Amino acid sequence: MSRQANANESDVIVVGAGAIGMLSAWYLRAQGFTVTVLDQQQPFAGSSWAGGGILSPVPPWHYPAAVDALVRASLQLYPDLIDRLQALSGVTLDYAVTGLLFTGPFDADAVPWRQQHADAVACGSLQDWQPGCDGREAWLLKNVAQLRNPRLGKALLASCQAVGVSVLPGHAVMDISPATARRLEVHCGNGATHAADYVVIAAGAWTDTVLQRCGLQTCGIRPLRGQMLLLQGRPGELRHIVSGNGKYLIPRADGLILCGSTVEDVGFDAGTTMAAREEIMSDCVALYPAAGDMPLLQQWSGLRPGVADDIPVIAAHPQLPGVWINSGHYRNGLGMAPASAQRLTELVMAANQAAPVA
Ligand SMILES: Cc1cc2nc3c(=O)[nH]c(=O)nc-3n(C[C@H](O)[C@H](O)[C@H](O)COP(=O)(O)OP(=O)(O)OC[C@H]3O[C@@H](n4cnc5c(N)ncnc54)[C@H](O)[C@@H]3O)c2cc1C
Repeated sequence: MSRQANANESDVIVVGAGAIGMLSAWYLRAQGFTVTVLDQQQPFAGSSWAGGGILSPVPPWHYPAAVDALVRASLQLYPDLIDRLQALSGVTLDYAVTGLLFTGPFDADAVPWRQQHADAVACGSLQDWQPGCDGREAWLLKNVAQLRNPRLGKALLASCQAVGVSVLPGHAVMDISPATARRLEVHCGNGATHAADYVVIAAGAWTDTVLQRCGLQTCGIRPLRGQMLLLQGRPGELRHIVSGNGKYLIPRADGLILCGSTVEDVGFDAGTTMAAREEIMSDCVALYPAAGDMPLLQQWSGLRPGVADDIPVIAAHPQLPGVWINSGHYRNGLGMAPASAQRLTELVMAANQAAPVA
């Protein structure tokens, strides 16, 4: 390993500088691989920037066991990871266990889940925990944490660069071709060619586009747009993440409140709409009436990497040796990112031990 004879050579190329790609780079680098991350735009400008930063599926009982396992493993990794990223980058991520207040009615899947997680759930009404709300039935999922996505992006970029990962914006990957039996060449839209033994495709909603361009079998990953609103609240006013009717409000430490989100099948259109603004506001005000009086600061959207069964693809590509996929994290990419990146790293290490690079 440790090949970096010139600027275009590394052990691993990661395609996509979102949470999944950057964390893959971070864990691969920690195992001694030299890593280059290529992104068609600026790092962390995709779904990873747009998301809410809730580190749990909402609600957890609607997701398969494989998602739960990756979220749980990530929650174990996050505290130490955050300490390291904050120390290396000087960026504060505002990681906090704020809990999630989930409002009823609760379906048949919810009750057995609650019984299994009795220590982590308190049952009551919304107004028991949040002044200004009505008395509808609610469960407080006490251990749910959050962090600020854009800050995670800044911290990851600075930390990856500090440990020697090369992160190159403006490099849209157009093709991947075998150069030798063990070496792959990655061709970019700007004319650059980079070579590596392994290529990890972590291109989020664009993963199938990248694979198609390279003439490789796709994974069934497609964009599903989510729109978000940012409100100006006051610090401490909203005490927990509050969710119901498919929407949620996320309180940040400085008083900002994120309200989301839609799920729209509109291809790669990353625009925003008045209809979504009205729908999110109306549903969030129904949960937390004070939100209706708060100034609206911003509206944006992101393209989630949707996948049929909600389970991300973390695997070798079946056609081209050396190509790996880490993608399809849909609504829970931040919640699953560290464990997904660690799993990918373990798989690449196992492949590398079976056939070490020169
Ligand atoms: C509104 C909204 C709210 C969300 N809320 C949450 C939440 O609260 N909690 C949670 O866990 N998850 C949440 N998510 C989901 C989460 O954001 C995603 O699952 C996660 O960010 C996916 O990360 P990623 O790195 O795979 O994709 P992305 O962050 O989209 O990164 C993919 C990168 O690949 C790059 N790329 C694409 N094609 C190419 C190419 N050809 N060459 C080079 N680079 C390329 C893109 O430019 C992009 O930077 C939310 C998403 C949205 C949209």
